[in-house]
Amino acid sequence: MQSPQVVDRWIADRMALIEASGIRRIFERARTLKNPVNLSIGQPEFEVPLPIREALHTAVEQGHNGYTVTQGIPELRELLLNDVRRDYPGQQRELLITSGTSGGLMLALLCVINPGDEVIVFDPYFVIYPNLIRAAGGRVVLIDTYPDFALDLDRVRTALSPRTKAVIVNSPSNPTGRIVPEAEMRDLARLCGEREILLISDEIYRFFCHETPFVSPARFNEQVLVVDGFSKSHGITGWRLGFVHGPRRLIEEMTKLQQFTFVCAPSMVQQAGLVAWRTDMTRQVSAYQAKRDFVYAQLREHYEMIPPGGAFYLFPKAPGPSATAFVEKAVEQGLLIIPGSVFSQRDSHFRISYAASEEMLHRGVEILQRLAR
Ligand code: PMP
Repeated sequence: MQSPQVVDRWIADRMALIEASGIRRIFERARTLKNPVNLSIGQPEFEVPLPIREALHTAVEQGHNGYTVTQGIPELRELLLNDVRRDYPGQQRELLITSGTSGGLMLALLCVINPGDEVIVFDPYFVIYPNLIRAAGGRVVLIDTYPDFALDLDRVRTALSPRTKAVIVNSPSNPTGRIVPEAEMRDLARLCGEREILLISDEIYRFFCHETPFVSPARFNEQVLVVDGFSKSHGITGWRLGFVHGPRRLIEEMTKLQQFTFVCAPSMVQQAGLVAWRTDMTRQVSAYQAKRDFVYAQLREHYEMIPPGGAFYLFPKAPGPSATAFVEKAVEQGLLIIPGSVFSQRDSHFRISYAASEEMLHRGVEILQRLAR
């Protein structure tokens, strides 16, 4: 057995730049609670539609158990590309099927970041962005967007430097639930175009938009790299199916790296993806609108927060100076939520995921109303 000190020496310096996810810590805590109200997970709770599950079983039975070509099976690429051609007419976009959206993000960042390159991230952010940027050797440049979470272009201009390589935008947002409105997205897309900076658009929640329509920056800038996936839209977070589309040259490099890392997205999952992509999920999405309306209506008088647009999150301000302390109190009451410090330099807000059963939402809202007093 090697001593822990020896093993420590084996660990690369870059691993010190990656923080263990605060969400996982809450999960650990959940294991010790009896029947907690879990509003901490960013994962749909609806059942995966039967035809999609059947397609997965059939694919396994039919022998789709081996490698596929790295870029993804032609039938699924074609299906996704048809939508891309419809949504971005006249653009030359190449597409790669990835092992989840996270896989796509990792490939993208490794393919564009040189040591010391800067990547602009809006705070609050999805936790993996800063960690992946640092692991790839980049510097994270945060732009604070509190209290309304709008993307202030003047602040982006000020943050730009000769080392700026990329900007990451995520709409609808995890953790705020905000949908970036069209004019704001257009201006960001054009600014990145003018300054020749890569804009990476994480669109994993795009189906979860209700009254405000989803707008992709790729509509205004052909060079935008879109990362997307099936995890949330089809409730298959564990199946690891995502895709990216963008400039051919970049997608080619990402494909090269995927060949030596993930190799391919799981082959039976790609087969099931053919059925998933043709499955109408509007009923499930509407259910989230109703859940959002319920939680927002119950909490808006008790907590300061922006009206949530989409994804399945609310991001209220915690009473008192520390959101972490507030979340500790909530956990003591059996409610699992995530402190904003997991997604931010600030520790002032907390994330509620309403991807949960009605019963959970009722119980959660009741605890939160009590804690606000
Ligand atoms: N981007 C955002 C904004 C997310 O919230 C998540 C999942 N929580 C991902 C990407 C990663 O999704 P996937 O399961 O496709 O890797």
